[in-house]
Amino acid sequence: MIIKKFGGTSVGDAKRMKNLIELIQSEETTIVVLSAVSGTTNKLVAIAESLYRQDKPDACNQIKALKSEYLMLADELFETPNKNEEGKKLIEAHIGYLKGFTERIFTILQEKALLAQGELLSTALFQLLLEEKNIPSALLPALEFMRIDKNLDPDEYYIQQNLNRILKKHSNTKLFITQGYICRNAYGEIDNLKRGGSDYTASLIGQAVQADKIQIWTDIDGLHNNDPRFVNNTNPVAELSFEEAAELAYFGAKILHPSSILPARQAHIPVRLKNSLRPKRPGTIIQNTKDKAGIKAIAAKDNITIVRIKSDRMLFAYGFLRKIFEIFEIYKTPIDMITTSEVAVSMSIDDTSNLEAILTDLKKFGQTEIEPDQVIIALVGYIPTSGNGYASQIFDALLDIPIKMISYGASNHNITLLIDKNDKIMALNTLHQKLYSNL
Ligand code: ADP
Ligand code: ASP
Ligand code: MG
Repeated sequence: MIIKKFGGTSVGDAKRMKNLIELIQSEETTIVVLSAVSGTTNKLVAIAESLYRQDKPDACNQIKALKSEYLMLADELFETPNKNEEGKKLIEAHIGYLKGFTERIFTILQEKALLAQGELLSTALFQLLLEEKNIPSALLPALEFMRIDKNLDPDEYYIQQNLNRILKKHSNTKLFITQGYICRNAYGEIDNLKRGGSDYTASLIGQAVQADKIQIWTDIDGLHNNDPRFVNNTNPVAELSFEEAAELAYFGAKILHPSSILPARQAHIPVRLKNSLRPKRPGTIIQNTKDKAGIKAIAAKDNITIVRIKSDRMLFAYGFLRKIFEIFEIYKTPIDMITTSEVAVSMSIDDTSNLEAILTDLKKFGQTEIEPDQVIIALVGYIPTSGNGYASQIFDALLDIPIKMISYGASNHNITLLIDKNDKIMALNTLHQKLYSNL
């Protein structure tokens, strides 16, 4: 079985949707995971913001604009009057549902249901397109099998049991279409896997059905050796190990949702990243690889806050770090980087929702200090600590940039540096020149 996920740009307009028909043809059973049409989720987020502000006219205007956009899409997508009408009825139904939110109280529950409409629409329209082209396929409703638990982690058992149960009902079908991103939570309410979550859906489905391969189709030729939004002349990396890809996704390579590699890695399923606009290009393969020394790619993770704690009581003391980490554990706040000296500890976090409470508790152990607006630069590849020269190349490149924290040697796959957000673009560029100018 193959899982093929297409992101927002790959279903961004009628031409691109039609282009997918060729890309999804296969001898093997295929599950196609679709994102919302590009821009739609952002528009739904904006509608939700208006509804939270109780600005009904603004919300209604935005819903109206979305409606015309989708009616135009239907006109370009369908060639037969029947399917055009069916498509438009479907759009009207979703738009009617969105309008319903302007008539009643708007809470986080409604917001999640509203955000789900993008993927529900794109998949339903695509299924109609396949019907028009007489391509047999079945729509798998993600809300019937994709689920997260009370800790907001995927409920792998539930997903596996329910997805396979539904697939069994369609034993003669070889092509399935389903929604990325959306799911139900532990209470059965509509929820989602966070922004960019369709990649995660694809990987979770791959794991649940023990797929032979997973393909993530997007708008670029695979994972590049640096962030193409900030650096020119980046190049696709041909091959990455699961560890390297997971590190890059976690540390900001937007092409992959931060958690999306884990399920594929656990199930040993190779993941290929491909460009739906240039399907012949090889892209990037993520699989178990033999380590070849070198820094393969650079990524940056924004919105990082440094938390520092200083205390003379740390001197010659043991058990101090445990007490500090326990506080972060209580508030379910992951620490990304940590550096220690004899009397001080610096940690970096990106989830600041419980920062006040964390600081109050930390103050029992020493003086605290925070520094917001930081960025983690991650250099990822196979960087054995037995090798030499990596650190000097990096420091050389960052000669003019203050480095606030460094983590080196924790694993063979990653060197991370923490810098001010204003230095990010310069750091990505100077590192690129230093490390890849000979490519
Ligand atoms: P999709 O809508 O298909 O999920 P995304 O926008 O989420 O696509 O991801 C693709 C984008 O990720 C690219 O267009 C590129 O701008 C951005 N990106 C950031 N870092 C990288 C990287 N290292 N390699 C490739 N793309 C990257
Ligand atoms: N549509 C969702 C988003 O824009 C999920 C995804 O595209 O992966 O975040
Ligand atoms: Mg994405």
